[in-house]
Amino acid sequence: MPTASGLGYRAVPRGTRILTASRQQHDRAARSLPLGVSDTYRHWGDQTIYVKRAKGAWLWDIDGNRYIDFRLGWGPIILGYGDERVDRAAKRGMELGGSTALASELEAAVAEIMIEMVPGVELVRFANSGSEAVATALRVARAYSGRDGFVMVEGAFHGMFDSVLWRTQMESWNPGGAQPPELAPFGRGIPTAHRDLVGVVSLNDAEALEALFKQEAGRIGAVLMEPILGNCCAIAARQDYLRDVRRLCDEYGIVLIFDEVKTGFRVGRGGAQELYGVTPDLCTFAKAMANGYPIAALGGRAKFMEQISGFDGVLHGGTFTGHPIGLAAAQETLRILRDTDVLRQVADWGNELQEQLSRVFTDHDIPHVFTGHPSMFGIMFREEPPKSYRDWASSDHDLYDRMARRLPDFGLLPEPDSREPWFVCESHLSLDPSDIAATVSDVIAELRR
Ligand code: PMP
Repeated sequence: MPTASGLGYRAVPRGTRILTASRQQHDRAARSLPLGVSDTYRHWGDQTIYVKRAKGAWLWDIDGNRYIDFRLGWGPIILGYGDERVDRAAKRGMELGGSTALASELEAAVAEIMIEMVPGVELVRFANSGSEAVATALRVARAYSGRDGFVMVEGAFHGMFDSVLWRTQMESWNPGGAQPPELAPFGRGIPTAHRDLVGVVSLNDAEALEALFKQEAGRIGAVLMEPILGNCCAIAARQDYLRDVRRLCDEYGIVLIFDEVKTGFRVGRGGAQELYGVTPDLCTFAKAMANGYPIAALGGRAKFMEQISGFDGVLHGGTFTGHPIGLAAAQETLRILRDTDVLRQVADWGNELQEQLSRVFTDHDIPHVFTGHPSMFGIMFREEPPKSYRDWASSDHDLYDRMARRLPDFGLLPEPDSREPWFVCESHLSLDPSDIAATVSDVIAELRR
């Protein structure tokens, strides 16, 4: 088997990563920032990384360690870090002069491309983060349906706002028992009043969804779901299930929202909705739409989006919404994704990586399945493909986590949590998947020892 040494991507000897500068930085940062970071999930204890630079598929920390990055900023990087085409466009956006809190020509230009690319998008509004886009989608759905309750799927993540910050407690669930896993807030400070508005169902179980619709008739206004659970091993909905969800929403007068913050402009030009051939009423985008520049969007069928109709309708906006830098970056990113074959190439490379990894896991007698889409795939150490988050409980996620936490010492950077997918971007195409698989093999061999 070829070894990763041919790539020359280790700035420090294999398996002996030095994090002295990062640890010093962490001590310093913790005096001015809670946990020394700007997002709680970026705090990895004494393994917390402070980035010096990122380019292509590579990332360097302040100790000089170099990694092939499979986190890609939790998904936004679809072309590569520091893509010169997108950066040039962003600079052109900068020339407008900054944030004016007025409209510009760029907004319609980007909206028109989105409408062209995504089946369910007839009208668009921009936002600055996925969380904001999802919050607005929920507000639009509630205004349209006149009902405040909504349904989410176990294992879903929809952003940093109280309505959706409810997590399925799979760690404490008894798979043999009769009870479903419990729902708990993501940490403290989330008003319990929000709990009463959320119903949660297991993915790929249309009967449970219909039962909930019947039980809560008149209270549920929306189903909010990711067709591929981007924060839960990329466990994917089955096509027949999504069709059932669509049909049930129509029957019960419930607005169907696809949260495509992770899948959008990644799993296909038209997102997961195009891949599955199931069109939602509303959908949200963020990450890949501008290759990492901060911008998000809410789109949907006109009759839903027209709820945003002045001060008597749904309110939406914000000081920085429609910022010209993000818009210009989105315009160029979307143009590239629309006019080139890059998404197919990314998927092909992801498939090839999966094949190589599969050989490694098989050689080490590790039962495994790949989930999701080759451009954002989960690795689950279990025999059978998962149906829902509940199947995570019976996967060997401890082994996965040990592998994922050791890989950075060998120059590969996935998220240190089995529920976060591996992301692929155009810049990965210049790397040999078999070299990457060889490194994974070395790490597993070491863990086994
Ligand atoms: N929806 C999904 C599916 C996400 O994965 C995320 C973020 N990981 C969000 C919404 C929130 O997006 P943001 O972090 O940009 O607020």
